[in-house]
Amino acid sequence: MSAGKKDILDTAGINTRLGHLGHDPHAFHGFVNPPVVHASTVLFPSAEEMRAPPERQQKYTYGTHGTPTTDALCEAIDALEGSAGTVLVPSGLTAVTLPFLAYLSAGDHALIVDSVYFPTRRFCATMLKRLGVDVDYFDPGIGAEIETLIKPNTRLIHLEAPGSNTFEMQDVPAIVTVAHRHDCIVTIDNTWATPLYFRPLDFGVDVSIHAATKYPSGHSDVLMGTVSANAKHWPALTAAYTNLGLCVGPDDAYQILRGLRTMAIRLEHHQRSALHVAKWLEGRSDVASVLHPALPSFPGHALWKRDFKGASGVFSFVLNVDDATQFEEKAAAFLNALKLFGLGYSWGGYESLAVPVQLGDRRVCKQPKEGPVIRLQIGLEDVEDIIADLERGFAAVAAAGG
Ligand SMILES: *Cc1c(COP(=O)(O)O)cnc(C)c1O
Repeated sequence: MSAGKKDILDTAGINTRLGHLGHDPHAFHGFVNPPVVHASTVLFPSAEEMRAPPERQQKYTYGTHGTPTTDALCEAIDALEGSAGTVLVPSGLTAVTLPFLAYLSAGDHALIVDSVYFPTRRFCATMLKRLGVDVDYFDPGIGAEIETLIKPNTRLIHLEAPGSNTFEMQDVPAIVTVAHRHDCIVTIDNTWATPLYFRPLDFGVDVSIHAATKYPSGHSDVLMGTVSANAKHWPALTAAYTNLGLCVGPDDAYQILRGLRTMAIRLEHHQRSALHVAKWLEGRSDVASVLHPALPSFPGHALWKRDFKGASGVFSFVLNVDDATQFEEKAAAFLNALKLFGLGYSWGGYESLAVPVQLGDRRVCKQPKEGPVIRLQIGLEDVEDIIADLERGFAAVAAAGG
């Protein structure tokens, strides 16, 4: 990219940046989009070039080590995250587990936020345990008190703000300050906010993780993860990536870059509609509470307001059900009555979704007593139609059981 254009993009608005980051059309015959390079073999011009040390070798050497397509996406993500380097992995879950494998060794200890994405906890309980890494879970509201949980062998603290399904915020800068005092790496699963609404590295976090499957894809059809590290922690990350033989397909990388072009516009719509629906839910007597960081009534609201630039379209609410034996039945009545909302887990697409939330894995952030938790992804449909569909759910709850 020309120096002049790069300078403009560094200070431009987010839609301008998303429209131009990651590929210089004039570097490839003027085509607006980058080429989709399908490649395993890369040819060298001579035996001498093949034997040259990596830093003096030609830019591309082997399919798994990057192509112009994957580079275009990595460059765009680095610009958005402010990171020294980004790797692309086959799923969001791989994006969480790769840094654990990169930075943790047998005998180490890690601290993980209790409201973590469940498969992250499963990885720790199975693979990390087998590899001799010890894990403890902490209350998302712990802040600087996390110091009391740090042991001499604590190497890594993993955050997810807000947390999965219950959306607890964390005091990221307070935790980072303590972590770095004890030489611990801080990783964060930043999937909910995307780099548009929270830039973890600006707050001292070392590694930012995304399920690009969600908003960057935006269309419920591509699986991918991204891991972005600061300069200090980039070498170990890229070494683990290479050692494990990880890579992604060029068509998928292309689709994620394509998704980024419209991500800010989509997020703005998700944000507006989700907040509208959250406020509407908050006013209902059949709703016990709404778990959305942008609502002033939410316990983590002040942290969200201090550190985040926006809220995406996923949040939960607690149905008001007096009798605990009816939680499951009432939640099922609500979900089964929805016509527009699909019942499905992987969010971030254009369509509205609802899921019953299970909190059985939690040690600290347990199931509320007031009723079952239902998570919503508010899609890009017209918000009046979304609310009309939710009305169908509440009518079914009222009609169900005793
Ligand atoms: C969906 C999700 C993931 C996993 O992404 P996949 O691509 O589905 O593996 C990781 N973290 C969070 C917070 C998620 O919501």
